[in-house]
Amino acid sequence: MAKQYCFKCPHCGSSLPVRSSEMESPILKRLYLQCSNFDCSFSAQAFLEIKYQLSPSGTPNPEIHIPVSIKKEAPRV
Ligand SMILES: [Zn+2]
Repeated sequence: MAKQYCFKCPHCGSSLPVRSSEMESPILKRLYLQCSNFDCSFSAQAFLEIKYQLSPSGTPNPEIHIPVSIKKEAPRV
């Protein structure tokens, strides 16, 4: 079983698990979060996006364009 994403509630600090999700596009997922603390009951939407590629696909989809990650420059002495 895959590990689920889990945030911390910004209000009470309890776990803020993903209750459901839906794909907005092949690289963008909408997440629905609900605080596990019954007294708080905070809920929110979040987005999980593939933002940069670190290594190109061996079977690239010609319709998908993901920017290459920008490497940090080594500090100058
Ligand atoms: Zn909370």
